[in-house]
Amino acid sequence: MNCDKVVNEVYTFLDGELTGVRRTMIEYHLRKCPPCADSFHFEERLLFLVRRSCSDGDEVPAELFHRLQALIQQEATEGTSGE
Ligand SMILES: [Zn+2]
Repeated sequence: MNCDKVVNEVYTFLDGELTGVRRTMIEYHLRKCPPCADSFHFEERLLFLVRRSCSDGDEVPAELFHRLQALIQQEATEGTSGE
């Protein structure tokens, strides 16, 4: 399992839709790979905050979510150089 795959699966993971083996593989990778762990925890926090701020329902406005995500990605790209 490489980093690209892990990042792609993080959303599924956080949605609770991953099955046991894949969950374990991701958890294992996150333990060995600090950059992925960082982005995972970031997404986790983001989801938590978004969900909490919309506590009257489970629905998170997609627009808000995407806007936050874009902001975070922007910061992430600015903070790193190339790969
Ligand atoms: Zn990684």
